[in-house]
Amino acid sequence: MTDIKNYDVVIIGAGPAGMTAATYASRADLSVVMIDQGVYGGQMNNTAEIENYPGFESVMGPDLSEKMYASSTRFGAEYAFGTVQKIEVLDNQEKLIKTDSGDYQAKAVIIATGSEHTHLGVPGEEDYQGKGVSYCAVCDGAFFKGENVVVVGGGDSAIEEGVYLSNVVDRVTVVHRRDTLNAQPILQERAKKAKNIDFIWNTEVHAIKGNGDEVQEVELYNRDTKESSSFKTAGVFIYIGLKPNTEAFLDLGITDDKGWIITNDKMATSLPGVYAVGDVRQKELRQITTAVGDGGLAGQEAYNYIASL
Ligand code: FAD
Repeated sequence: MTDIKNYDVVIIGAGPAGMTAATYASRADLSVVMIDQGVYGGQMNNTAEIENYPGFESVMGPDLSEKMYASSTRFGAEYAFGTVQKIEVLDNQEKLIKTDSGDYQAKAVIIATGSEHTHLGVPGEEDYQGKGVSYCAVCDGAFFKGENVVVVGGGDSAIEEGVYLSNVVDRVTVVHRRDTLNAQPILQERAKKAKNIDFIWNTEVHAIKGNGDEVQEVELYNRDTKESSSFKTAGVFIYIGLKPNTEAFLDLGITDDKGWIITNDKMATSLPGVYAVGDVRQKELRQITTAVGDGGLAGQEAYNYIASL
């Protein structure tokens, strides 16, 4: 049997929410580990330019990740690699956190696992992932220099990343299923001003096709005319919404019917000593500022909870 590692607080996920919780809890002298299945930074690593984080006129996502990681480990919080598969509440109210690379035990747990991109669910999407289909402009945009790409979606992420791509690729075509964008006005303005961004309205992508090695075209369906057509493109960047990363916690009874975790305004779930922060919560605005606000509060609340035991 492998040893169980003991901490005051285990934080699951090292995005901005988890890293801020780690800063607050470790600064209150608690022993803290952040467990992440990937590189610390979470979705900030997939974000090009961030223009709405206080203190920075503009900052690249990966650079902000590095700065937050430095803050989060400054007071002794640790980072560990692993995918959390389950949380069990033990008889003494401590929590057992099971991962694919060992088990942890803690007095308090903060869930900060964020969300991930919804997939279109159309033929070709899975086959061409990494061969032209992407959910991350900052990671993959450079592969499409001099090419035409399609961005699917009309919200903040789609338009923000579309504008980023327009500075890297030859031409960006935004395919949106409605006739208006729902992105913030400032982003819409930028996209409409860009000379190499076009829009195809009231249209869905119904298939992604290629030669087996790379994407060559998308099959479009116009919701007004009910007609299908094909559109040549080298890349398809998909930004159509988010789903919570909560599969590991569904048995705890702390999620709503869509899987988002329900908390009170102190970030506490219905299980004593279990908190949730950031995008994984049922909330109105999923942004870095709201994630760090949640994280600070939960770090402090975890301290209060442990002090009360
Ligand atoms: P995340 O950043 O999603 O981090 C969650 C972490 O949990 C990840 O590192 C993941 O690996 C880990 N994890 C998940 N499941 C497990 C598990 N079972 N075990 C272990 N680890 C796990 N926000 C802004 O404020 N400004 C912007 O300009 C902006 N632009 C964006 C552009 C794009 C393209 C995207 C995708 C998002 C953007 N956002 C922006 C939103 C912002 O990135 C998120 O709101 C923020 O990252 C949420 O932080 P989080 O810590 O809650 O979750």
